[in-house]
Amino acid sequence: MAESSVASLLKWIEESPTPFHVVNTTKSRLEAQGFKEQEFLGEDIHRKGFLIQDGAVVAWSLGDAGAPLRIIGAHTDSPNLRVQPNPDISVSGWSQLGIEIYGGVLLNSWLDRDLGIAGRVVCADGSIELFNESSAIARVPQLAIHLDREISERGLLLDKHLHTVPVWGTNAPSFASWLQHTTKRDDIIAYDAHLFDVAPGSLLGVDQSLIASARLDNQLSCWAGIEALINADSEFNSIIVLNDHEEVGSESVTGAAGPLLEVVIRRIFEIQGVAEKSRHDLARESWCLSADNAHAVHPNYQERHDPRHGPRVNGGPALKLNGNQRYATTARGAAHLRSIAKEASTPLQTFVSRNNMPCGSTIGPITSTRLGIEAIDIGVPQLSMHSAREMCGAQDPQYLVALMTQFLQR
Ligand code: ZN
Repeated sequence: MAESSVASLLKWIEESPTPFHVVNTTKSRLEAQGFKEQEFLGEDIHRKGFLIQDGAVVAWSLGDAGAPLRIIGAHTDSPNLRVQPNPDISVSGWSQLGIEIYGGVLLNSWLDRDLGIAGRVVCADGSIELFNESSAIARVPQLAIHLDREISERGLLLDKHLHTVPVWGTNAPSFASWLQHTTKRDDIIAYDAHLFDVAPGSLLGVDQSLIASARLDNQLSCWAGIEALINADSEFNSIIVLNDHEEVGSESVTGAAGPLLEVVIRRIFEIQGVAEKSRHDLARESWCLSADNAHAVHPNYQERHDPRHGPRVNGGPALKLNGNQRYATTARGAAHLRSIAKEASTPLQTFVSRNNMPCGSTIGPITSTRLGIEAIDIGVPQLSMHSAREMCGAQDPQYLVALMTQFLQR
């Protein structure tokens, strides 16, 4: 079971180097299970359907008319390096690509890796096409220690603009002509192009108890949410929302602060005949599970966690609490999820950050603030968050699926 879950997760991540590909992977998984794409919300709503907008997707399985909502949220984006609009650089015999840093990248982790390029092109006729060049075509080379003698004392210092520029050959074509050749389109007007580590994810450890892969934050939660939606048999209205732009603050059309989830919910209420006056009551019977990976205790930095609230890998997902509302979980929500975990025979841990350690946030508080639906923050514990290659336990992904499946049914 664990092994097939891991294989399924790693296949998902390999197919999904960018948020646009996450959405496309979601689409093919759901279509294989009979879900139908909803092109326009103004039309009749499919009972099992999904709506795509750029790097975000909302999927649903409708339950009884007027039933409360069970929502699972996660994000499709991961910090990375993105090709600039005018990227061509030629210097000292090297061909390079100008890049822009997206989100909180652990820059050192991108050095000396074999990188591919994936994304989408928008063409003159308005059509959009995905592309995915997964062979090693670029690399951000680190400076040799002989030319950087102070590195042993002061550590690695990288200038974000000067030292992160990848090489992609010695006599490379222009990026525009490469893109034209790769996509076989000669009418490209604009593009989104992201660099990614071409090494596929794998099991790790002498006991094979760990997973090493890019983009575990937060494609692990995206994958688990969709698996749960497929598995669950629920009388509730189940919704999975996978937002883009969480890593840069969630404020965009396709981010959690945008309108996407709300318009889908409003449309579901409408077709199920839920009167405006009843919607607040229904919201209070509804739950949102906001899933985003958590920080496991790092063996070399144990002091970064509170000793009684540090999640371990393979100990199950962590329930995240924060009195200052960086996480949305209330005592009522914690109680709800703990009883669900018990029913699903899934271990559940509790994470609270140290008072002297800044706490990240998630889409949970944003979603509950916008919708008046109580959110519960959880996440699989991992190390190396925002590295080009992250790490988590091999057991935890299947625990998350079991927990989410039961969440949708309760
Ligand atoms: Zn995240």
